[in-house]
Amino acid sequence: PTEDYENLRRRIYSNTKELWYYVHHELTKVIQEDNKAEKIQTILDQIGERKRSLLSDQQALPELDGYNEWRQAEAANVSDLVQRRLHYLQNPPDCKDARKLICNLNKGCGFGCQLHHIVYCLIFAYATERTLILNSKGWRYNNKGWEYVFMPISDTCTSAYDDKVVMWPVTYDAKVLALTFIDSISQKPKFLPLAIPKDLAHRITRFNGDPSSWWIGQMLKYILKPRQAMQKAINDTIAKMNFKKPIVGVHIRRTDKVGTEAAFHHIHEYMVHVKDYYDQLELTRPVDVRRVYLATDDANVLEDARSKYPSYEFLGDPSIAKTAATHRRYTPLSLTGLLVDLHLLAMCDYLVCTFSSQVGRVAYEMMQTNRVDASDSFFSLDDIYYFGGQNAHDRVAVLPNDGAYQDIPFQVGDLIGIAGNHWNGYGRGTNKRTNVNGLIPWYKTADHLVLYPFPEYKQVPL
Ligand code: GDP
Repeated sequence: PTEDYENLRRRIYSNTKELWYYVHHELTKVIQEDNKAEKIQTILDQIGERKRSLLSDQQALPELDGYNEWRQAEAANVSDLVQRRLHYLQNPPDCKDARKLICNLNKGCGFGCQLHHIVYCLIFAYATERTLILNSKGWRYNNKGWEYVFMPISDTCTSAYDDKVVMWPVTYDAKVLALTFIDSISQKPKFLPLAIPKDLAHRITRFNGDPSSWWIGQMLKYILKPRQAMQKAINDTIAKMNFKKPIVGVHIRRTDKVGTEAAFHHIHEYMVHVKDYYDQLELTRPVDVRRVYLATDDANVLEDARSKYPSYEFLGDPSIAKTAATHRRYTPLSLTGLLVDLHLLAMCDYLVCTFSSQVGRVAYEMMQTNRVDASDSFFSLDDIYYFGGQNAHDRVAVLPNDGAYQDIPFQVGDLIGIAGNHWNGYGRGTNKRTNVNGLIPWYKTADHLVLYPFPEYKQVPL
């Protein structure tokens, strides 16, 4: 390791102690003092400053440890390997002879939800070594089908011919299987998200902090290739915007989602995190303009944001939001707007959104394919990351907890089924050993990655 790396590492250790000295001293003092509210606010501001400094230093570690180029190359290599395996799977030498999986795109939901439906089908295909056939006639975003907007998911094999189609899971062996929606599977196969392929896991974890969403992002990378006309429409809209870095992406999902599947969040709740991002960035470099790319389905948000936050520059296309806000949501026009939004959100340096929205999750998954590791480049106001219909998401206890503070007891190694994080230091979950449900100090647990023995596609060179 370089001298800079060692110095930085020691500085982080020392400044973590400094943070504690500061908090301990100030809060002990405040106990005796009047004017508590004001004092506490000052302390909070100071702690925030120290936290940003610590995080900023830690982000610089991988740039100095001497492995940065290695991580870049490894991320590109593993991604390339997955893409080549998918290409191999999707283009069998003899299509007529190949085992297939048929997936019906006509799920009655928005585009983010439909994309995740295809991701589920493609993971299923990869796990069972079947070529995926996407059935998309009468698709709500283009009546003629997926292939009229995006590149087909196979160059050579797009038909099941006259073979008999059998609905999974009646049988596993039929030459041509058809899949139901993930929501209606009663016994979920273990290869469904958030599982990742065992043969790649130890490579992915060395460059990425959230392998499950990286893996899903790789499926999206394979699926989502706009045709020339669509790509041009996207490029033309983008060309009209002053999209420049640094920039933070904000996705605000309102209209039909609010009160049904998610709570309303005020613009202020998003901007707290945008401000925090820029305050941290300014510790290491000057920021002349605090830019925000705002994607939303609420036609009034952009104007509202501009009037409430005049010191920020908001990018966004009001006509995209207007289309998204109305019944025109399922038209080809709305699809272009949504692709612009997704593409740009995924290109931002940081993303603030609600993971209850499939659009927010797709943006993050795409971000994971745009860089080596995007796992620290987002904040979700509500849910932690998930894939709709996923298998249980567990965390594993890495420190013991006696459960003395209204939280639940656990031992090192216990698996805890996770319901969510409250972003106050605690999450909620169920200890699978004791069956006790309640609060868990998040820092005493670590994500439990599920490694599944997917086929290794030995025919595809490493
Ligand atoms: P969810 O309902 O947010 O979980 O995601 P879906 O993709 O299933 O459905 C939401 C639909 O609303 C999308 O497909 C879009 O048509 C529209 N929408 C939501 N947010 C945005 C946005 O930020 N930009 C655009 N252009 N459309 C959006």
